[in-house]
Amino acid sequence: MSNEKKERRCKSCGKLLLDEKLPFCRRCVIEGRDTVGMVGGAVGVLAVTALNVVARVKSDSDRK
Ligand SMILES: [Zn+2]
Repeated sequence: MSNEKKERRCKSCGKLLLDEKLPFCRRCVIEGRDTVGMVGGAVGVLAVTALNVVARVKSDSDRK
């Protein structure tokens, strides 16, 4: 009857958790980390793009 109270399920996909300390299963934790990495990469690309634009504008003004 009170088994459900003991059960812990992943809050993302609903998979039964055995001894995970997080409220998410391993797969979702790994996927979440990948998502964070992708966001970080996108921010890095944006920063590099911005630097390139600044460098191009600077070189253009140097040429004049
Ligand atoms: Zn999950």
